[in-house]
Amino acid sequence: KVGSAQMGAAVAAENREVAGSRINVFVRLRPMAKKEKDAGSRSCVKIVNRKDVYLTEFASETDYLRLKRVRGRHFCFDASFPDSTSQQQVYSTTTADLVEGVLQGRNGSVFCYGATGAGKTYTMLGTLENPGVMVLAIKDLFAKIRQRSYDGDHSVQLSYLEVYNETVRDLLSPGRPLVLREDKQGIIAAGLTQFRAYTTDEVMTLLQQGNQNRTTEPTRVNETSSRSHAILQVVAEYKCNDSGIIVKRIGKLSLIDLAGSERALATDQRTQRSIEGANINRSLLALSSCINALVEGKKHIPYRNSKLTQLLKDSLGGPCNTVMIANISPSNLSFGETQNTLHWADRAKEIKTKGCASNEESIRVPDSEVDQAKLVLELQKEN
Ligand code: ADP
Ligand code: MG
Repeated sequence: KVGSAQMGAAVAAENREVAGSRINVFVRLRPMAKKEKDAGSRSCVKIVNRKDVYLTEFASETDYLRLKRVRGRHFCFDASFPDSTSQQQVYSTTTADLVEGVLQGRNGSVFCYGATGAGKTYTMLGTLENPGVMVLAIKDLFAKIRQRSYDGDHSVQLSYLEVYNETVRDLLSPGRPLVLREDKQGIIAAGLTQFRAYTTDEVMTLLQQGNQNRTTEPTRVNETSSRSHAILQVVAEYKCNDSGIIVKRIGKLSLIDLAGSERALATDQRTQRSIEGANINRSLLALSSCINALVEGKKHIPYRNSKLTQLLKDSLGGPCNTVMIANISPSNLSFGETQNTLHWADRAKEIKTKGCASNEESIRVPDSEVDQAKLVLELQKEN
């Protein structure tokens, strides 16, 4: 542990903007659960060509042949993962490029979105046997940063926090709620623990402990609250030799396991606008408002309406590479929730983000062996 520090928002603010890009959107279908089978559910989702998702209320083979006559919709995403997709495949397709970007000094964000039980935490954290995106990303980061570090010196720092009922908490060191402060560099969670990590095994243990600190529903003490958002931030810093120029690079990766979308983000099918559920999650609702405003190209984006959107400001509007993974269940009993998730995922495809330039600082151009030696000494002194 290296004490508390800022959220790395400074890293984001330092990123210079380049030409805009958009959010990459993926869908992951999870296998049918035993509970769903026992309840007599049938599959209402079919994934074709690794991109197309067909959602139908009834899903027998003949229904698919008569698609136009069944209630349902067709969606297309950057990639759609059938239920047989491995954690590694999901990581490689959705997040590996962002990790590469972080090593080039560009910030990246991945968020999992979907109803409770749709597979968000499985995708993000996973299990000991099948670690998810958070763990696989850090593993990849460790391997690559070690290979590329100019002087063997590098740091990977983690912070893990929760937003629950508009309260921000440190999952690595539970205690009093954290206060968000906005300064010139962006949003900062004052006093958030930054954990310096050295091995992947250590990270898995740390994240599992962190997850146990997530708020649970009062009625079901062993289950994470469906209203809790978890945000992991990984800041990687190292020096590398870029064609003879030694550059210091710093990049931030944010991995976000959002609260269950079922209660906050219902959509009115006629107007396609969000309508407030009976039990609103203010942060998720604010997220939908921000997505709408971004898609419509509004000048004012209402980030300030919730803690979550304040924290995600640099991930949504850029400058940042952003990925959304929408998690869905195959069961027809979840038809409404799945339709809603796919609707928001579809909408997220239209968000134009500000592109993101590398956050690197060239230290010096060494022109002789002597200079090289001096440079190494200087770098050592800095640390
Ligand atoms: P959420 O976080 O969205 O509420 P979970 O990730 O906890 O949902 O998933 C609900 C259940 O389904 C868990 O028991 C989880 O292990 C299982 N599950 C989810 N996705 C998969 C998958 N792709 N393969 C196997 N099991 C999965
Ligand atoms: Mg979960």
